Amino acid sequence: LHLICIQFEPVSQLQRVAVSPSQIHHPAIHLTADQIHYLQRVLRLAAGDRFIAMDGQGHWWLTQLGDEPGQGQILDAIAADTELPVPVTLVAALPKGSGFEEVVRQVTELGVTTIMPVISDRTLLKPSSNKLNRWRRIAQEAAEQSERLVIPTLLDPVPVSAYWDDAHADEKAVSYLCTARRQSCLLGTHLARSQFPPSAVTVAIGPEGGWTEAEVDRAIAAGYQPVSLGRRILRAVTAPTVALSMIALQLEQMSVQDTV
Ligand code: SAH
Repeated sequence: LHLICIQFEPVSQLQRVAVSPSQIHHPAIHLTADQIHYLQRVLRLAAGDRFIAMDGQGHWWLTQLGDEPGQGQILDAIAADTELPVPVTLVAALPKGSGFEEVVRQVTELGVTTIMPVISDRTLLKPSSNKLNRWRRIAQEAAEQSERLVIPTLLDPVPVSAYWDDAHADEKAVSYLCTARRQSCLLGTHLARSQFPPSAVTVAIGPEGGWTEAEVDRAIAAGYQPVSLGRRILRAVTAPTVALSMIALQLEQMSVQDTV
């Protein structure tokens, strides 16, 4: 007789990993070398630890890292009907004052998965750890209010130049840089035309003063697509909400097309 003692952590605290449907062979998931690296080295998970595998088509599985390297073991399906079908990251240059609180609240309501505050050339301040804790509390409250399964992860701020350099180029993911003064395609239009469905979406919003030319060039070199949010100039605290609404609309339309 084996007595197995399992500690259940709330689903909202588990890390999420995007896998492609072809990797799923119930009840096993064949993980790629990159995913194994991410799970073991970056997230520091060991055999027996749990994570959520998401197939980008709205299916989530509670999964355990197997003893055999490269294997995940599906434990259960998770009903994730309040979540967007793929992970969405907001990269946001910090606006001044308390404007970021409203950004965190609204993008959480709209389904963001990760919020990455960045310090850009025209960002005025670096937030205190008190502020970070406050933003994390706001994300938690907003996620509960919106009956989400996931509390968005708010990462520690990094200089934006370091961020572009590390941007992970996954060919099935899409990354957008919102720029107010270029002739670019609308974010929503671009996403609607992209390969369905992307494995992940990242969107970057500049500070009140906008991105510098050098920042725009570096982002484009790192694989970011410059996009527009419309013909009017939005405030740095309005732009993330508009961007997330466009993304949520397109992703939810894609996943509805999948199921009908
Ligand atoms: N003062 C800047 C505008 C900054 S607006 C200027 O005059 O150019 C702050 C940020 O919001 C921008 O960096 C951009 O990321 C985003 N933004 C605002 N309006 C936008 C629009 N119409 N299209 C795309 N991005 C926009």
